[in-house]
Amino acid sequence: MSAQVANGTGLDALEKRLAEDLSLLELPAKPWVPERMHDGSTVRDVIIIGAGMCGLAATAKLVLSGINNVVAYDAAPAGLEGPWATFARMETLRSPKSLHGPALGLPQLTFRAWFTAQWGADAWASLDKIPKHQWMDYLIWYRRVLALPVQNGVRMTAIVPAGDLIALDLEGAQTGRVYTRHLVLATGRSGLGGFAVPDFLKDVDRRYWAHSADDIDFTALKGKRLAVIGAGASSMDNAATALESGAESLDLLIRRKEMPRINKMTGIGSQGVVHGMHQLPDAWKWKFVDYTATTQTPPPRGSTLRVSRHANARFLLDCGINSVQEDAGELLIDTTQGLLRYDFLIAATGFSNDFSGRPEFTSLAPHIRRWADGRYTQNMGTPRANLLESPDLGPAFEFRERVPGTCPMLAQIHCFNDAAMLTHGKVSGDIPAVSAGAERLVRGITAALFASDVDTHFANLVAYDIPELQGDEWTDSTPLLKKDTAL
Ligand SMILES: Cc1cc2nc3c(=O)[nH]c(=O)nc-3n(C[C@H](O)[C@H](O)[C@H](O)COP(=O)(O)OP(=O)(O)OC[C@H]3O[C@@H](n4cnc5c(N)ncnc54)[C@H](O)[C@@H]3O)c2cc1C
Repeated sequence: MSAQVANGTGLDALEKRLAEDLSLLELPAKPWVPERMHDGSTVRDVIIIGAGMCGLAATAKLVLSGINNVVAYDAAPAGLEGPWATFARMETLRSPKSLHGPALGLPQLTFRAWFTAQWGADAWASLDKIPKHQWMDYLIWYRRVLALPVQNGVRMTAIVPAGDLIALDLEGAQTGRVYTRHLVLATGRSGLGGFAVPDFLKDVDRRYWAHSADDIDFTALKGKRLAVIGAGASSMDNAATALESGAESLDLLIRRKEMPRINKMTGIGSQGVVHGMHQLPDAWKWKFVDYTATTQTPPPRGSTLRVSRHANARFLLDCGINSVQEDAGELLIDTTQGLLRYDFLIAATGFSNDFSGRPEFTSLAPHIRRWADGRYTQNMGTPRANLLESPDLGPAFEFRERVPGTCPMLAQIHCFNDAAMLTHGKVSGDIPAVSAGAERLVRGITAALFASDVDTHFANLVAYDIPELQGDEWTDSTPLLKKDTAL
């Protein structure tokens, strides 16, 4: 037995405590959803697409709630879901180490419990921020310790209505068609649309530029003159990685006259924001998100210093881009500061909610109601394109139809990713409130499944015949009473 296990620490001991806690709470709850068959096979109660942090939290909450006929599919190999071990180029998470993340109210499931079990309380005290690979390791453990039903290497390629069910086409490690009653799209930041690419880049040969979430070969950028668009976290992380890989020079092309310096939404973070935002009138939701978009989130201090420590890095502020073109084997960029020449450009320009960008959503895209379809009204504030294309979701993150009756299955498809932010607040993308989001999602799915099977549940009520009283607990005094009355 290792010293840590003997001392009640170590992962084995932690897993034992977690099992005890689950047992005390009688979790997972007993399965309660009636089995449903289609073409001779069992239909899934819920399929989750994406096994990143949101997909895992949603799957865990479903299983703990007694909805256990579920599976999560992820196109990525196990351990490479989401950005952490792929295109996240920061050294550490931005979030404070103490956030509960996907722990779903279970103390032994927190990152802190996992870390402390292995490296001890002193190491926890001296940890500044969570290294990104360690966050991925924690998510791998989270999935294992809860024995979550996840299948990797499986891409969902199409969604097709099938009566009151949803049919999904799969490719990869599992192929063919599967059926489900509810579908959760935990497909991440780029999950509904894809990369947001500015118009001035759309016709430029991809040899000369990459999106910050692309798989970039940084060794090939050694000795090159580089530009990075933007001043957000990803701009800094990509710029720093390029500089550390030996770029000859690197310019950050920043449209703003000043760097954003205050992280406003994090600053006012509270349980009020987590649980209250989605209940606010729409005009208030718009106002919060519009203001945050206007003031912008600054890049983390550490990431910014990671760039500025290089003498060959320049921060070019007030440097809007008018056009980009290929010119004699290099990039010629016309900016508000004049003409600039580079070998390669990285566009850290974020993601879009434009569903038409994803082939797997072709059947849904024209039917999904967006904020632009009447939920936004001019008195709310600036009509920002990326907010207008946000889906107009219901209380369980379910899509709504643009024209009622044209695609009823949307009511069973839940948008549990970044695109839900305008309707639901930040509960389905970032670490701080993902448990609250998963709980809201699963409460809604639970209610919908129960209501949809209400006939069966009522029939079960009528058929239930196991007596609680055996009949020997009392005597019937009615004959006596009759006798008394007669007297
Ligand atoms: C670079 C970066 C750094 C971040 N740092 C922080 C931070 O410090 N703190 C914080 O709170 N938040 C951070 N975030 C935001 C957020 O926490 C992450 O984006 C997180 O990964 C969100 O989890 P997710 O499950 O929604 O998406 P993801 O982790 O992206 O998972 C989505 C999964 O869906 C799968 N998928 C998509 N489409 C399909 C399909 N058709 N079929 C099968 N599988 C599919 C993908 O393979 C992917 O694994 C960061 C985001 C990025 C991009």
